[in-house]
Amino acid sequence: MQTDHLYLNDAYHVTCRAIVSHVSKEGLLLDQTVFYPQGGGQAGDSGWLTLKGGSRLRITESRKAGEAFPDKNTVLHIPALGQTPLIQRIKPGDEVCAKIDWQRRYRHMRLHTAAHMLCAVLPYSVNGCSITADYARLDFVTSDPLSRERIETALAAMVEAAHPVTVETISDEALQAHPELVRTMSVYPPIGCGQVRLVNIKDTDLQPCGGTHVANTREVGAVSVIKIEKKSASTRRVVLALEWPKAE
Ligand SMILES: [Zn+2]
Repeated sequence: MQTDHLYLNDAYHVTCRAIVSHVSKEGLLLDQTVFYPQGGGQAGDSGWLTLKGGSRLRITESRKAGEAFPDKNTVLHIPALGQTPLIQRIKPGDEVCAKIDWQRRYRHMRLHTAAHMLCAVLPYSVNGCSITADYARLDFVTSDPLSRERIETALAAMVEAAHPVTVETISDEALQAHPELVRTMSVYPPIGCGQVRLVNIKDTDLQPCGGTHVANTREVGAVSVIKIEKKSASTRRVVLALEWPKAE
């Protein structure tokens, strides 16, 4: 059974009604979900599934279900420990209300968008990326010295400019027919799935991405470079954090 991944069309979708399609000790599958599964460097969502009657099942992690399931890309909602009696009451066909932890997800969205902006500031290949609620960490293939002050100034200018952030799709054929588009991208798109999902920060950055982002760079707010590290002779690691609100 295919799951409808609502976060792909609207990252601000916090809650949805859903029908349970599978329950096991590994977790729950739903017919549609607002939970982003861990992937592309971005942490998965946490939140709650509210059952008919009002009981709430705490979900601490979500990830792609994987090869053991008919649709490996469907989202597995993984419950917190200690909820077995509640899980045993849930059956396929039950209706639940799925709700993500929005405070945490919004930090993912702001930091993920900041990571794209950083790609526009530092025009190098990226060979590692991790987005959590506390930081965005990117590894750039370069031996150039990097300036914390220059990066922070450039990011602040992008926030101030309030660039719209939009999601677009382009067919493999259209992309191949316009090779000049690829040159504007900091990450080469994955050709072969028929369509490529692109995230466009107007006049700033265009790259293929399946994650969740804010709708305007202004929402990212103040960003600090908390670390620049020489990870290897040819790799520089840059870690960004939000200045407000501080992580709990
Ligand atoms: Zn992204």
